[in-house]
Amino acid sequence: MTSWLPVRVTHAPEMEAFARRKLLLGCCACLTLAAAAACKGSGPSSCNDTSALPPDAVNARTALGYSDTSTEPGQVCLKCLQFVPAPSADQCAGCKVLKGPIHPNGYCRAFIAS
Ligand code: SF4
Repeated sequence: MTSWLPVRVTHAPEMEAFARRKLLLGCCACLTLAAAAACKGSGPSSCNDTSALPPDAVNARTALGYSDTSTEPGQVCLKCLQFVPAPSADQCAGCKVLKGPIHPNGYCRAFIAS
């Protein structure tokens, strides 16, 4: 008569290394997402306040289709010849063509690559 011994499941060293690796990868992914969120948070939240501008300046922004967010690949105010940088990264910038606050990620039809 043969005896049957129950097999005891133990954690093999390879499984522990795998679990450790998974944990490390998860931490790296979390840190990457946190860094991306922090980067996205820098810069002005909006540069659409035209309340201090005269009507003709507001009309010029509208006529040239200014937007805080560019839909043209690679064409953002930050890369435009007319862009005037802000004193700090969290402030709206300026423009040599349009009056008023300009977002570095904005765009208008007067874009000229710098
Ligand atoms: S000209 Fe238009 S695209 Fe260029 S910086 Fe001014 S608003 Fe932005």
